[in-house]
Amino acid sequence: MGEKRGLLVVLSGPSGTGKSTVITALLRRRNDIRFSVSATTRAPRPGEEDGREYYFKSREQFLQMIAEDAFLEHAEYVDNFYGTPAAPVEENMRAGYHVLLDIEVQGAAQVMAKRPDAVSVFLRPPSLEVLEKRLRGRGTDDEARIASRLAAAQREMAQAKHYTYTVVNDDAEKAARELDAILTAELCRSDRR
Ligand code: ADP
Ligand code: 5GP
Repeated sequence: MGEKRGLLVVLSGPSGTGKSTVITALLRRRNDIRFSVSATTRAPRPGEEDGREYYFKSREQFLQMIAEDAFLEHAEYVDNFYGTPAAPVEENMRAGYHVLLDIEVQGAAQVMAKRPDAVSVFLRPPSLEVLEKRLRGRGTDDEARIASRLAAAQREMAQAKHYTYTVVNDDAEKAARELDAILTAELCRSDRR
């Protein structure tokens, strides 16, 4: 790709809102974006592959990565650790790709503080009732975990005001189109040209 650095894009939103679904739709629309694969201590869900959705790590391995300062940001969320490996983000941006981080609100706040240039987008569910239905429909969490994720969702929604953009995921293709439009507009900003 060209000599220009890519954008750093932070996408947050309550678990079950549809971030993965919308990101998949966005990656089909544009070939200049790289998804940042996070490390996590959570167990893989059926169908998830190590190195594709996440790098699945033991707690010890994760703590070792923290000690080596390998993360751009990391946070604890519903009893597990999640973190963004810093090196691939830097390499991809230097190669001119936009790098998309799917991270929760504490990690997003760390990135926004470290990289004021990052583009921040909050993905909202149409309502908490719809969010609960999506979490149940996904069928990957037991009742206790669904309750924790819903409680976290209410706290997370209060953080939407810290993001430059908010997109509502009622229709995943429409949400992907809006994200695409946000990227296009950001690339046209006079201060980036
Ligand atoms: P997240 O990555 O935010 O945790 P997922 O992408 O796993 O969320 O989506 C959670 C569930 O909601 C999945 O079963 C997914 O198929 C469904 N879903 C996502 N977006 C929509 C949408 N716009 N309309 C209806 N269902 C959706
Ligand atoms: P899930 O377990 O549903 O895949 O993800 C739970 C939450 O962790 C989601 O809100 C997701 O955005 C967030 N997450 C995934 N990777 C990272 C990461 O590297 N850092 C942080 N801070 N959050 C992450």
